[in-house]
Parts: sequence; structure tokens; C-alpha cells
Amino acid sequence: MGDRKAPGALQVVTEPDFEALVIGAHPDDDDFGTAATSALWASQGKKIAWAVMTDGTEGSEVPNIDEEVFIRTREQEQRTACELLGVKAVEFLHFHDGHLTNNDETKRAVVKLIRKYRPRVIFTHDPSQHIFGPDPDEKPDDTGYLNHPDHRATGNIVLDAIFPAAGNPRSYRDLLVEDLLPYKVHEIYLFATSQSNTFIDISETIDLKAKAILSHLTQFGPDAATDLPKRMREMAARTAKTAKEQKGLDIQYAEAFRRVKLYIPPSPKDEA
Ligand SMILES: [Zn+2]
Repeated sequence: MGDRKAPGALQVVTEPDFEALVIGAHPDDDDFGTAATSALWASQGKKIAWAVMTDGTEGSEVPNIDEEVFIRTREQEQRTACELLGVKAVEFLHFHDGHLTNNDETKRAVVKLIRKYRPRVIFTHDPSQHIFGPDPDEKPDDTGYLNHPDHRATGNIVLDAIFPAAGNPRSYRDLLVEDLLPYKVHEIYLFATSQSNTFIDISETIDLKAKAILSHLTQFGPDAATDLPKRMREMAARTAKTAKEQKGLDIQYAEAFRRVKLYIPPSPKDEA
């Protein structure tokens, strides 16, 4: 980027306000990806915000459901989950579910969020993850699945918003008048990734994660309450097993992320 000492140069803000901003494609994606870590960090007094890119209108098997009612219901489910987890703020960007693309409008909306919350860390989908599937010869009874296009789009939009736009004084200059100053995100944590390098011990909050997911009643009917908490524990235990194999960590339940550091604040001794 340009000369930071040029006349009229605007200093990029590096001091975070929120600890984390989680950005998922649909209502419930933030829950699956980060609910337990969000709840854990919130319990440590850290400020966490969540955002949902789409309106969630394609998340149903019923074609003739009332669109507006459905949007409001899903928002309310997400708010309930956030309350359970101690998430301080939740934003709904209302792009059309199933049709999300990485374009100027979606990127600008995310730049606004980043400049508003100034999160130290951003969590989002790993956009490079397209296909999840085991080798059929090794696991003949397992099926694979394709990552939702909105998940990949969200990951790409968020990464492109983080760099260079959110921290560039000449990007989206109209936002400056709204006091949305250029801000540098310190780290990204990508979820739903096959390239995990960071494992968070979520033993304290795994049950809250299941409760948060169960708040999404349009997605999981009341019957899910009997087996979803067990499934969540099994999944988190498998992740903990990977943590043991990869990092020698001894934890019971884990959430996994691909963590990338983008900015390390200078220590007081460097500045001296
Ligand atoms: Zn989703």
C-alpha cells in the first residue's frame, strides 16, 4: 500500500473493539462453526458479534411457506441462540439465500461490518473447501457432500473484504463520512475446513452449542432434542481426537479452525 507519511494520509486503525466477528452464510452456520468457541470467549468477558449473510429463505422443504414470516422466524431463532451463547450483537445482511455472490455490493456490506465492529479476529467459512468426501474404497458405506455455494461465496466475500478493502483508506471512501475508518483485522479463523491447525477446548460449552443449534426450530424439530446433543458431542470428540494426533493436545471436545495471522501489533518494547 501507499506512503503512510504522505500529506493527508489517513492512519489505519489497528486497535480492536470486539474480540471476534463471526460471519456465516445462513442462520445456524455460525452456530455449527463456532457456537462453543463463541460461548467460551464470551464467558471470558470477550465481546463477540455474529453476522448472517443471507435471509435463510431457502432453508425449508415447504415451497409455499410465507417468505416474510419465515425470514422473521429464522432471525428470531438466531437471536435466541446468540442470547444463550452470550453473543453481544447479531447482524442480518439479508442477501438472497441460495444466490449469494462475491460482488461489490456484498463485499461493501462486509467492509462496513468490519469497520463498525473492529474485530481482532474474524471467523468465516473456508472458501477453498468445495468437496467433502472420503475415498469410497476406504469407507464404502460413507457418502460425501458438496459445500454449499453460499458458504464458499461467504468465505470469498469476507476474505476479499478483509484484504485489501477494510484496511485501505482509499477503498469505499464514502464510508469515511459515516466514521467507518479503515481497520486492520489481526487474525482469521476459518471453519468447516480440512486444513485445521488450531483446536479450541470446548468441553465447558459443548452443551450450550447443542442448545443454540436446537434454537433453530425451523431446521431441527423438537424430536432433534433427543439425539442432537449426543451427535454434537460425538463430532466434537472426533475433532479432539484429531487435535491429539496433530498437536498432541489432550482435550475431550474441540472445535477446529484454520487460523491465519494477518497483523501482529508491535509490542511496547518494539515501539521504544
Ligand atoms: Zn449454511
